[in-house]
Amino acid sequence: MVCYGALGVHLPVGSSKEKRAIRPILLRSLKLLCPACGQSSIVQRPFKIKDRCSSCRAVFKREEGFFVGAILANVVTTELVILLIYLVSLPIFNTYDQLILAILFVVAIVFPVAFYHHSWSFWLGFDHLVESLPRDSKSNDRWS
Ligand SMILES: [Zn+2]
Repeated sequence: MVCYGALGVHLPVGSSKEKRAIRPILLRSLKLLCPACGQSSIVQRPFKIKDRCSSCRAVFKREEGFFVGAILANVVTTELVILLIYLVSLPIFNTYDQLILAILFVVAIVFPVAFYHHSWSFWLGFDHLVESLPRDSKSNDRWS
């Protein structure tokens, strides 16, 4: 499969017969590594995801709107964490509604910021599982 993106011609990473197993990709996502090769970090600096992998040239930001999946992963995970904390804290602090709300408010503010890189990483891992990440074939240079 060939994808013609705004950055140039993109080819899928590896061959079409490349086996993409869930476990290694999930582990790479947990470690914020490229889901395709696992050799390089996806993070350029805090709150800045690289455009492509510096080892295998897999394209991380390939089209307008691709980031919506990472936002979705972050929002859904935040909601699940808030629900889980609420359900766990309810029997413990059942008469202290204000305390529960304060805890949930802090979690709702802090968790999405802390989970930013992992939401991108899980989104890239999911995308790599479904349809292999495209590779930038325009240059053989190593990207930073
Ligand atoms: Zn890579």
